[in-house]
Amino acid sequence: MGGVPGAGKTTVINKLKEVLKEDVFVVNFGTVMIDIAKERFGITDRDAMRKLSRVKQNELQLAAIDKIVELEKGKRYVIIDTHLAIKTPSGYMPGFPKELLEKVKPEIIVLITARPEEIWERRHLDTSRKRDLESIDDILEHEKINIAYLMAYSAMSGAYALIVRNNNGKLEDAVNRIKSLFYDGEK
Ligand code: AMP
Ligand code: MG
Repeated sequence: MGGVPGAGKTTVINKLKEVLKEDVFVVNFGTVMIDIAKERFGITDRDAMRKLSRVKQNELQLAAIDKIVELEKGKRYVIIDTHLAIKTPSGYMPGFPKELLEKVKPEIIVLITARPEEIWERRHLDTSRKRDLESIDDILEHEKINIAYLMAYSAMSGAYALIVRNNNGKLEDAVNRIKSLFYDGEK
């Protein structure tokens, strides 16, 4: 599951955990990555990771993928809270390199979105994070890139691509949309 910062990935996932009867194992990619970054590079700020060199970010990403494969062993339902496109100072970086698609084999790739003005406002209100304050146009650009990456990952892996809107006041609809996936057919 991915989306721009402020789209509400973590909020949707937390709510989903509350309402699902099934046991869902949730893993936050950024948390796994920052734990490895602390050990290897002495970095403690999760919002600083995307400003590391591409080589370092890629190293952390691959190590995080292996850790996640280990953690998810034997789990029936797994949700990964992550990003489709990482906005680095040198350009966007794929959040799902081929190793992730091959080793984790996601069945459904979900993009959480919201209106850009709402995302902008949520970032302003969130004092717990050191998020860059971007313009509405920057957010729109990131959203377009996310969709492009989503389609690429889906085409590469055969996974479903699902876009879920999490507009203000519509958290329940977003959660229900994802919840329905657990009762459709085999999944
Ligand atoms: P979050 O708390 O979800 O905003 O994630 C914190 C940070 O973790 C992001 O800003 C990225 O630097 C990193 N991160 C999360 N998912 C990925 C991924 N799939 N590939 C590379 N970096 C990631
Ligand atoms: Mg989050």
